[in-house]
Amino acid sequence: MEALTGASPAMMPPSGPAGQGTFYIETFGCQMNDHDSEKVAGVLLRRGYGQAASPADAQVVLYNTCSIREKAAQKVYSRLGLFNPKNNLLDATDKIIGILGCVAQQEGQRIFERAPWVSLVCGSASYSKLPAMLEQIEAGERRVTGLETDTEETFETELTRRDHPLRAYVTIIEGCDKTCTYCVVPRTRGPERSRTSASILREVRELADVGYTEVQLLGQTVNSYRDPSSRGLRFAELLVAVAETPGIRRVRFTTSHPSDLDAATIAAMDSVPQICDHLHLPVQSGSTRVLRAMQRTYTREEYMQKIEMVRAARRPISITTDIIVGFPGETEEDFEETLSLLDLAQFDGIFSFRYSPRPHTPAATMAGPVPEEERGRRLALLQERQRAIQTARNESLVGQTFEVLVEGASRRENQWTGRTSSNRTLNFTSPRSGLLGEYVLVRVTQAGPNSLAGEQAF
Ligand code: SAM
Ligand code: SF4
Repeated sequence: MEALTGASPAMMPPSGPAGQGTFYIETFGCQMNDHDSEKVAGVLLRRGYGQAASPADAQVVLYNTCSIREKAAQKVYSRLGLFNPKNNLLDATDKIIGILGCVAQQEGQRIFERAPWVSLVCGSASYSKLPAMLEQIEAGERRVTGLETDTEETFETELTRRDHPLRAYVTIIEGCDKTCTYCVVPRTRGPERSRTSASILREVRELADVGYTEVQLLGQTVNSYRDPSSRGLRFAELLVAVAETPGIRRVRFTTSHPSDLDAATIAAMDSVPQICDHLHLPVQSGSTRVLRAMQRTYTREEYMQKIEMVRAARRPISITTDIIVGFPGETEEDFEETLSLLDLAQFDGIFSFRYSPRPHTPAATMAGPVPEEERGRRLALLQERQRAIQTARNESLVGQTFEVLVEGASRRENQWTGRTSSNRTLNFTSPRSGLLGEYVLVRVTQAGPNSLAGEQAF
């Protein structure tokens, strides 16, 4: 299901040459990238473009790419190869082909050289200029780029396409001011820019008006949010204001940086039931030595103090994290410290990655690269250790009852999938029908490492 928010369809198409063709957008990467694409799609819809089901059917074809870990540039060039006249697969004549996101930012003009049929190259820090860039292309300009990262602007859209039927994403802060040595984000997404609280709260009200009950606030360092308007809300205050919007029942947020996690945020989570009891707090490594080389701005002990602060809340809060193994110079002892941190912190879930050197990052040229095979061995050990922790943590929930938002129906009759406030997947049986999008109580009867199973409680 797709939804639109921000302007009534009756207002469309208000500007630009009306009814001028169709677009297709494909996205690679994280939630933030997915949501950027929803906003870019909104800009195109607002200009009168319709949506096409495939690149072959579209007049405008956009690839929005992330280069955090994968060999994203290769993926993009292979997609662009579809339009290479030599391959005779797709015809680029009369099409506007564009590359957006991190790869656009990193590759820049090189894309035009390798794929001369491309007409638009735009990094995420320049999305606010997209309407003007589209106008230039519509007026016949052959090649347009948006590659500046030195900006104070945020990407405000009048219309946003919504691809998730039950959860709406809301970017509250763009870019990043941290300097983690392995990461491309500060280079590709530019400096940190917070949206005004008025603009965010207006968007949340509109989402509630069209029936969304769950919103997820997004930012690379979501909790370093600072309201740039005179109202000056801090992150915890914004969280409460969003949660108090009539109609909103669940507020999630990601990703929090440990150094910016404050007592006010924990207190807000503790006292406002609409704020979900889940915190994603990437640690990256359990070794202070490696954290220092990563420039993560906290030590192992300081990270654990934050965990203790969260565990001291009256309400149990589920904690998940990100971990990188095989960072340059990571010794066996450093890795052991990461394993022991898993035991200590008792995370409810982890995203684990083998270190991947990224272009133009300080870590890419650091001494002591860990061989690929060893990175793989460490990743497998880490995942095995965490699997046991998660199994035990989930088993302790058997017998308890949780409210879930029902997100899917299984092919098997009477089987449903829901998500708890703590962000656990709970598969359950119910004699009732039509539960999709409903909040129901489910009693947990079984637990595995990655999900729970249960039955609807009446
Ligand atoms: N801003 C967030 C943070 O500070 O944790 C998330 C950044 S990134 C989108 C998500 C995760 O990708 C990071 O937390 C990190 O674990 C991983 N990551 C980033 N760069 C990486 C690299 N060069 N190699 C492996 N993993 C990486
Ligand atoms: Fe990258 Fe670090 Fe910023 Fe996260 S906080 S986006 S890992 S530089």
